[in-house]
Amino acid sequence: TQADIGLVGLGVMGANLALNIADNGYKVAVFNRTAEGTQAFMEKAGHLKDMFIPCYSTEELVANIKAPRPIILMVPAGAPVDQQISVLKDHLKDGDILIDAGNSDFHDSNRRYKELADTPFTFVGMGVSGGAEGARFGPSIMVGASETAYARIEPILKAISAKHNDEPCVALMGPEGAGHFVKTLHNGIEYADMQMIAEVHEVMTSTLGLSIQEQAEIFSKWNEGPLASYLIEITANVMGVVDEESGKPILDVILDTAGQKGTGRWSAVEAHMLGVPATGIDAAVAARCLSSARELRQEIADIYPQSDAILTWEEKQEGIAACERALIAGKISAYAEGFAVLAAGGKENGWDLPMGDIARIWRQGCIIRSRFLDEIAQAYDENPELKSLYLAPAIIERMKDAVPGLRDVLSLCVTNGVPTPALSAALASFDMIRQKRTAAYVIQGQRDFFGQHGFERTDKEGSGFHGPWPAGGA
Ligand code: NDP
Repeated sequence: TQADIGLVGLGVMGANLALNIADNGYKVAVFNRTAEGTQAFMEKAGHLKDMFIPCYSTEELVANIKAPRPIILMVPAGAPVDQQISVLKDHLKDGDILIDAGNSDFHDSNRRYKELADTPFTFVGMGVSGGAEGARFGPSIMVGASETAYARIEPILKAISAKHNDEPCVALMGPEGAGHFVKTLHNGIEYADMQMIAEVHEVMTSTLGLSIQEQAEIFSKWNEGPLASYLIEITANVMGVVDEESGKPILDVILDTAGQKGTGRWSAVEAHMLGVPATGIDAAVAARCLSSARELRQEIADIYPQSDAILTWEEKQEGIAACERALIAGKISAYAEGFAVLAAGGKENGWDLPMGDIARIWRQGCIIRSRFLDEIAQAYDENPELKSLYLAPAIIERMKDAVPGLRDVLSLCVTNGVPTPALSAALASFDMIRQKRTAAYVIQGQRDFFGQHGFERTDKEGSGFHGPWPAGGA
């Protein structure tokens, strides 16, 4: 019999997604650029082997799927997606649906959606989160599609997605690149979340003198409270692992340069383009870049050495409690900014992004899944027009409790020279957004002085006022 769906690209994500689809009772026609990839996949398919039809050409792939055919592309973002589309394009017929499930730039998905609008098949851009395990056992899925196309693929997506209290973590975000836009911001928030966790580890190491083992226990404990999340849980796990070769904690032997593939940077750039900067995400992207300048850091570190300030035990306990609250405040700030970018991007692109659904489908399956997302989902349920997360009653309470902890941690870090770019950015942006009057009047004065840009006044209607600047200005 023919397959229910096709899947192209049997790498880490594609192979796991194919197994997940098969587990849910759908037959999958699988194809990989290199035949070895397909063969290797079939060899590892185990008891699910009969659920797959290995294909070794595009013709074979298309012929082995029941029409109308849904086909998932799980290849690296960028040129490989365009290449695969151009290969498959002429083989697809009326009603077929081509789904790009990689981490594509949403601008590319917007472009592809428009370019392919006149073809007999439909293009769908779909964000999938959860890494290899999510792909295998249930990812969080953000779909950019027409309502008709979504209705057709919804049953299969609901079956393979993660479940939160039996609710599938999949939803239609809007047409065009809406799914990839939301996935991009998901990853941006993930960058900020990960960076803040790393910073708190650094604080606990260099100002509180806590060992990695002690920190593993602290993170495990935090995972039972308001910070409960996948990233906190795996941080505790990573901290607990010992390197077999050296006998040291694995974190002691992992090189301190962080990789990145682009989604964090895209989030930051998009946020700037929308005029809704996400400072926590920005700082996290910058921190990964600075971490990569390893050689330069060694040289500069020799000239400006770090002071080692280890606090007393009593202060340590206070420090640990402050670190937890710092992470809570930092996390809220990252989400507040991330959701603000989502709202602005939705507006800019003419999509009515379902903010509550976004929080809901991120509660399971994805990398940023956390207890905190329940509170965000609830906040948007109570008020779908919420202007900022900082205005949601449950968040106000949390923020008021957590911000003093963040201030304490950052004071300690500034004094001791411990780098906390993302946590500092979180506090700075929160402090800025809670100002009734910012210092921006100075900037407006300067702009008018040197460039006659004009300003508005606090005491009069209208714009285009100028200052009585002395000659030489303007
Ligand atoms: P892998 O590198 O493991 O696999 C890539 C797959 O794409 C391979 O099957 C490869 O085939 C194929 N491929 C590469 N270039 C081309 C091309 N030009 N034409 C056709 N096929 C090609 O990547 P992942 O599975 O990790 O990632 C796939 C997508 O999923 C990416 O967009 C990634 O960003 C995204 N993603 C990854 C996550 C992760 O945690 N890894 C999480 C969420 C999304 P071959 O065997 O011939 O090399």
